[in-house]
Amino acid sequence: FTANVSHELKTPLTTIRGFAEMLGGGMITDGDDIRRYGKRIYDEANRLLNVINDIIRLSEIEENHSEIFTETNLSAVAKEVAENLAEKAKRLEIDLSVSGSDVTIQANGGYIYEMIYNLTENAVKYNRPGGKVLVDVSRAGDKAVITVADNGIGIPKEHQGRIFERFYRVDKARSRDTGGTGLGLSLTRSAVLLHRGSIKLYSKEKEGTTFTVRIPLTYVP
Ligand code: ADP
Repeated sequence: FTANVSHELKTPLTTIRGFAEMLGGGMITDGDDIRRYGKRIYDEANRLLNVINDIIRLSEIEENHSEIFTETNLSAVAKEVAENLAEKAKRLEIDLSVSGSDVTIQANGGYIYEMIYNLTENAVKYNRPGGKVLVDVSRAGDKAVITVADNGIGIPKEHQGRIFERFYRVDKARSRDTGGTGLGLSLTRSAVLLHRGSIKLYSKEKEGTTFTVRIPLTYVP
């Protein structure tokens, strides 16, 4: 993890330093070039901030600093996530919808939001124009069931066992281009485990992916 972290932090910082040095040294004088390099510095700085924020959230959740469990309406959270991702889905030409029944559990609302958000954002991102994403909330016995299904690019079998690892990505370039940090699924899994839940995935390359999360209705730490 330490080796990965330093790589993930150093890469954008090295780029930033290189471009800043060139700009500061007066080596770049053309207006368009200055704007282009400025944008690269801005993009890389954003990437760095995203990684740092995700690392902080991951360590917070793994150290269980935030254990406030309250009544959480999963359907309401799923709808809020869909609303907040509506613009992105529209831009990528993805049909994003929420279905299911009202299910309320004892949970940490912030982490539940983050979990559903990460899964749904991935379903939108790793997809194709015209694709579909469905977030469903239901109840089975003493558990709440959340599924996030897409008919996007899918995850090849040989990667399926590793995608919950920190910084693991199937396609590094695609993840980067979409602003990914490679930490979303690690955060998601930690959030699920904090609630004593389970997460499973079913995926087929080029056909799509379904993540199923099961969380006990009344567990409180
Ligand atoms: P990232 O920030 O790269 O999206 P994640 O931890 O959220 O990181 O996901 C890890 C990797 O798993 C992604 O880079 C992607 O290759 C793959 N992945 C996650 N969700 C999906 C999905 N719904 N469809 C296809 N691939 C996915």
